[in-house]
This record gives sequence, C-alpha cells and structure tokens, in this order.
Amino acid sequence: MRRNFLKSLGISLLSVIFFPYKFLYSATKKIINKNLTDEQKNILFNEGTERPFTSSLLKEKREGFYHCANCDVKLFSSNSKFDSGTGWPSFTEALPGAFKTKIDYTLGMKRIEYHCANCGVHHGHVFEDGPSETGKRYCNNGLCLIFKPSN
Ligand SMILES: [Zn+2]
Repeated sequence: MRRNFLKSLGISLLSVIFFPYKFLYSATKKIINKNLTDEQKNILFNEGTERPFTSSLLKEKREGFYHCANCDVKLFSSNSKFDSGTGWPSFTEALPGAFKTKIDYTLGMKRIEYHCANCGVHHGHVFEDGPSETGKRYCNNGLCLIFKPSN
C-alpha cells in the first residue's frame, strides 16, 4: 500500500516537472529529426550555443547546401560561406525566406537571433559586420546544420 502510494507520488512529481518542459518544447517547435543528440536539442530548442572551434563544418569547403538539422530545408548555399575567425560557421547571406529573426537581449546585449522559418528552431545570431556587400554575418551553430555536397 505504502509502496504503491510512493510510486504514484513519484510518477505525479515527474509529470509536474516534465509537463512544463514538454509543453514549452512542443508549443512552437517540434522535433522532426528523431536522431538529434541532446546537445543539438539544447541548441535548437533552448537557444544554446556550441563551443567555438568545435564544428567539423568550419573546414567544409565543398560546393553544396547547408540544411536545417531538424527539418532538412535548405538554409545556406556554400557560395555564401566564409571564414570569420570566430570559431562558428559563418555566412554572408541566407537563402531567401530561410529564416525569421527576433531581438535577443540575453548576455546583456542586443543581438538579432534567427531561427528556421520552416520549423522554428534556433540557429544563431546575425551581425552587421559581414565582409561582403550584404554587410551581414550569419554566425551559425554547426550542430544545427547538415551539409549536403552538390555531387
Ligand atoms: Zn528547420
């Protein structure tokens, strides 16, 4: 009897803890790619940031497209990739309509956050100090992208 009581108490406590988390998770964005790692989920859904100079995409120089790791839509062409020296994959422009933006005041500064227009997951921040005529620098977490070479 006491055992059952403790067991059901445990289950209801768990659901109290997990319900808001799950609710927040599913309110606007959904996990489409079931193979995402915990680290990817933290960046994509909780606006986390990967450690700089850790992305294998920093050295990627082939022609192709960078897709959303969650929903697989094309976000960047390899033509817009450049080495910003920041430690994150960087691009001078996104494909038309690929992202939506919002103003982000975390870290005590005003930054423009951008997220996938299709599935809503976080990708990075865009700055106005890019090297090309667009003036933009898309600073993207490598873990949010999947590169697909053209051939
Ligand atoms: Zn997406």
